[in-house]
Amino acid sequence: MGNHSKREMLGAVGAGIAGLSASLYIAKLGIKTHIFEKRSGTEVDGVGIQLTPNALYSLAPLNVLDDLIAESFFPEKLIVSDAHLPGQLNSIQLKGEMEHKYGFPYLTSSRNLLHKILLKRANQESLIKISFNSKIISTKDENAVICKTDLGKNLSFKYVLVCNGITSKFTSHDSNIRLGFSDAKVLRTCLSGKDLPLGILKNINLWMGKSFHVVSYPVNNESDLNVVIVKKNRGPLGDKKKLENELLNPRLLSVRNQNLTYLLKGVTSWSVWPLYRTGIITRATQIYSRNSLYIGDAGHPLYPHLAQGAALALEDSHTLYKLLHRCRSDKLNISKVFQNFAELRIRRYQRMQVESRLNGYIFQQQGILRFIRNILVKNFGPKLMEKDWIYENRNISRI
Ligand SMILES: Cc1cc2nc3c(=O)[nH]c(=O)nc-3n(C[C@H](O)[C@H](O)[C@H](O)COP(=O)(O)OP(=O)(O)OC[C@H]3O[C@@H](n4cnc5c(N)ncnc54)[C@H](O)[C@@H]3O)c2cc1C
Repeated sequence: MGNHSKREMLGAVGAGIAGLSASLYIAKLGIKTHIFEKRSGTEVDGVGIQLTPNALYSLAPLNVLDDLIAESFFPEKLIVSDAHLPGQLNSIQLKGEMEHKYGFPYLTSSRNLLHKILLKRANQESLIKISFNSKIISTKDENAVICKTDLGKNLSFKYVLVCNGITSKFTSHDSNIRLGFSDAKVLRTCLSGKDLPLGILKNINLWMGKSFHVVSYPVNNESDLNVVIVKKNRGPLGDKKKLENELLNPRLLSVRNQNLTYLLKGVTSWSVWPLYRTGIITRATQIYSRNSLYIGDAGHPLYPHLAQGAALALEDSHTLYKLLHRCRSDKLNISKVFQNFAELRIRRYQRMQVESRLNGYIFQQQGILRFIRNILVKNFGPKLMEKDWIYENRNISRI
């Protein structure tokens, strides 16, 4: 890389998982990043996160795995059940098996922890500057990218990474990636793991119901259980009481599964989130322009039903690093790298977007389709749950 490129400073919008991990990777190449974050502090929303082998593979070169693993949990199995039937339909082994097959384990952790670890590393890195309380309200991409803050400042960067997550209106306006509210809500809570049966506490559980599904997994080193319900509901977000009445009463949901009944009894309150309906990316040009690149949720909003949002954001950062590293001996043409990146990644984004949406349908089937689904899961469960195309390192980006 020539001296000119080394002095280059990239701008980044958003100090989330994508913004922090990308800046850490870019610092490895001797390039500075200035991140603008609208929040004032370090706390991020959300409770649990599943970190699959591809996420850990993408994190490993940042030397943060030891800190992460020390406070995370290795779930034994992924257990799939029908919420309206006793017992389980099928399960796959995660602990030991994932590491053996893909070189990295399957962890459950907290989003705050991952964020805290990345932020700590970024704060130690002299090539990364983070400005909190700095909301970027627009970017204009000409010869340079002009980022305008909500305080009226104009900041100019030759290149900008847009990593401001799924909800930013600014992103959806700028990138043509359509976003709206879906006909479902996400409810999350955290239960104390103290009195929970081991079948619940040691595993990732998925209960598929008619027009809802529930996922639970241990977080905070097994002391708590993260519970997420995705429920069809068109009402306004404020209609929390109605949702709670339905969800805190397993009888109204016709829940017959013992473990799920037990779990729901322990819940006293929820936080309700909207579920965004996302479009599918159709062209690589939707995520890059000459001087900017959209990564993480900003570039490829994803339904949570495949547990891959953060993993994809980490993959983005690692892939960008590998592409920049490959050109290090030439005069670095970052615009070309942005284009290569988008062309290389788009197929994977599309497949993730389609499959995560499909999972949402499959998990909430009713009638004959539910019956067929259950037969398939019972007889071919492990085969259907195998996700080599997601977890295998060589499928992330063939560079
Ligand atoms: C219910 C649910 C469950 C999930 N479970 C999983 C899971 O198990 N596994 C998994 O891999 N993923 C999961 N995800 C997805 C994961 O949390 C996200 O995909 C991931 O956080 C994306 O990272 P990001 O950096 O792109 O965006 P974010 O983490 O959202 O970060 C964006 C940052 O940009 C900042 N920002 C926004 N706008 C501006 C602006 N205009 N100016 C400056 N700053 C701005 C925000 O404050 C934020 O800090 C889940 C998501 C949901 C909703």
